[in-house]
Amino acid sequence: MEKATRKWWQNRRGTSRRGFLRTAAGVAAAGFWAEDTIQAYQNTVNTRSKPSALRITDLRFAHITGAPMRAPIIRIDTNQGISGYGEVRDGASVTYALLLKSRILGENPCSVDKVFRKIKQFGFHARQAGGVCGVEMALWDLAGKAYNVPVYQLLGGKFRDRIRLYADTTESHDPKVFGERLRQRKEQGFTWLKMDLGIDLVEKMPGAVTAPAGVTQRTSTWTKHMFTGMELTEKGVGLMADYVAQVREVVGYEIPLAADHFGHIGVNSCIRLGKALEKYNLAWLEDMIPWTETELWKQITLAVDIPTLTGEDIYLKEPFIELAKNHAVDIFHPDLASSGGLLETKKIGDAVMEYGHAMAMHFAGTPISFMANVHCAAATENFLALEHHSVDVPWWSNLVTGNEQPLYEKGFAVVPDKPGLGVEPNPDEVKKHLAPGTGYFEPTENWNNERSWDRLYS
Ligand SMILES: [Mg+2]
Repeated sequence: MEKATRKWWQNRRGTSRRGFLRTAAGVAAAGFWAEDTIQAYQNTVNTRSKPSALRITDLRFAHITGAPMRAPIIRIDTNQGISGYGEVRDGASVTYALLLKSRILGENPCSVDKVFRKIKQFGFHARQAGGVCGVEMALWDLAGKAYNVPVYQLLGGKFRDRIRLYADTTESHDPKVFGERLRQRKEQGFTWLKMDLGIDLVEKMPGAVTAPAGVTQRTSTWTKHMFTGMELTEKGVGLMADYVAQVREVVGYEIPLAADHFGHIGVNSCIRLGKALEKYNLAWLEDMIPWTETELWKQITLAVDIPTLTGEDIYLKEPFIELAKNHAVDIFHPDLASSGGLLETKKIGDAVMEYGHAMAMHFAGTPISFMANVHCAAATENFLALEHHSVDVPWWSNLVTGNEQPLYEKGFAVVPDKPGLGVEPNPDEVKKHLAPGTGYFEPTENWNNERSWDRLYS
């Protein structure tokens, strides 16, 4: 550039040569000052990181217990000193994440979708997907930190600044006691409630449940609902409906109130109970039968005039799309730690929206996974409300640090603007709640190498 021209630019922009280099025009002029320009461009990204040269070097974990659930937090380290955090779904084995270590070492964590597609064959129904999803969360955290943007921005930007939460609440067989607990949730600011409404409420009452001898809600946990032989009687349906009536009496009819954990009863009992609950205008009936039963779900949904919902155990978007195409349930409810992570869950929300359905989000875990959910909920248009299981655990929010605002207040999570997920584990608090016999992000070298021919198509 000639001296006069340079002078003209400086006058016009009121900037020095170095300032000019930081502008878009400066980037376009890379042919003149390539090295300086690239350096300046990277300054706007992240001075610690050269994203295209970022590589995964390690995967370690800290297994938290009492939150109130057990949940392993995972940490993925890199060759540039930045680490990303994810979480294996509540109750699942950390082995689901560790077996992925040898598959992701040396990969660029910013290629989130590429790495996800490489490892997604190692996920399956419910908690078996916990490793794949935990790693995916950590990859987004790293990509956000490398490019210096919050994860919601990488997912396409946000639809909202605050995320509506719905709180789980400890059960009581006394509707007055339980109603009072829900009323307190309302007082804390929660604007959406959920209750457990299982047949355990009535199964000990004579004439409420018909079941083969020895079959109870407890003994049938591992049997699919259609195969237990348990059916509610007219009396049982009436008692459960009366319980809900009394709870509604306390909390009122204005606030959405969802119901879950009905017990493994047959489809006909689901329909009779659902019809009896219509007048209490529940927000949804959750997982009355397994998600795998599209046609049976459709029968319930068509017969009952309150919304039905499923999804917390579904891995990947395809089964959601199949259910949505059939309008088998009214609302979808992925658990991001089972459904395939942040991007897959956004895709699920977008896909079911095409068929006219909304998405609520199932969640139980620590603030690491919570924040992954918050970014995804912010970036998904048809989102309704995100579950929160740990309102009564006083130290739950202290598990992380780095957030400028509380994780949530008055029933809404705050969407952070910091790079990545926006929080880091707080070592002092995490160390207080490690599962017995486990350490704090200790070496996992045993998992560095695994001989396995992972090719899917011969
Ligand atoms: Mg549930």
